[in-house]
Amino acid sequence: MNIILFGPPGAGKGTQSKYLVKKLNGFQISTGEMLRNEIKNNSEIGRNIINNMNEGKFVDDEIINNLIEKAVTDPLKKNRLIFDGYPRSLNQAKNLELLMSNSAQKIDLIFFLNVNKEIIIERIEKRKKIENRSDDDTDTILKRYDTYMKTTKPVLDFYNKNSNFYEIDGALKIEEITAKIDAFITV
Ligand code: AMP
Repeated sequence: MNIILFGPPGAGKGTQSKYLVKKLNGFQISTGEMLRNEIKNNSEIGRNIINNMNEGKFVDDEIINNLIEKAVTDPLKKNRLIFDGYPRSLNQAKNLELLMSNSAQKIDLIFFLNVNKEIIIERIEKRKKIENRSDDDTDTILKRYDTYMKTTKPVLDFYNKNSNFYEIDGALKIEEITAKIDAFITV
C-alpha cells in the first residue's frame, strides 16, 4: 500500500507516518528529513538549500523530485511508501504520478490533515522546544504556512476529486486521527 499524508506544517503528518510505517511495515518518505540530512552532511544539495529552508521557502522541485525518485524506484520499498510532506506542488504531484506508473505502482490512499493557523503556531512552538529545528521559530512558521497555502492549493485540487482522497480534522487528538486513518486501511 502507498499512502500520501498531506497538510500544513504541524498538522501531524510525521506522527501519523510513523504510526503507518509500523502498522504496514512501510517506509516513511519525508522530503523534509531528507533535506535536513543533506544540510547535516554539508553536501552540495545541502549548501544550496540551506537558505530556502531557514527562510521557510520551498526547495526547488527538481531537487525534490530527484530525491524522491530514488525512494520510489527502490525495489525494497515498492508498495510500502508513506509520503510525508511530498508532493507539495502541482509539479511534484504530476512527477509522482509518472514515477508511480513507471514503476507499476499507484497511490492507494491520500489523507489531508487540515488544521488552522492558530493551532499550527501553538504546536510548532511546542515542537521547537523538543526538536530544536532552526525553521520552527514563529516568523518562519508563518512564512512556511503562507508558502504552503500558496503552493498547495493546486495540489489539493489535483487530488480531491479522487475517490481515495480523505480529509481529516487535524485539530483532533493524535489517537483520534490515527483511528480515522485506521478505518480506511484494510489489510
Ligand atoms: P517539513 O519537515 O516537511 O516541514 O519540511 C521542512 C522544510 O523543507 C520546508 O519548509 C521546505 O523548506 C522544505 N521541504 C520539505 N519538503 C518539501 C517539498 N516536498 N517541496 C519543497 N520543499 C520542501
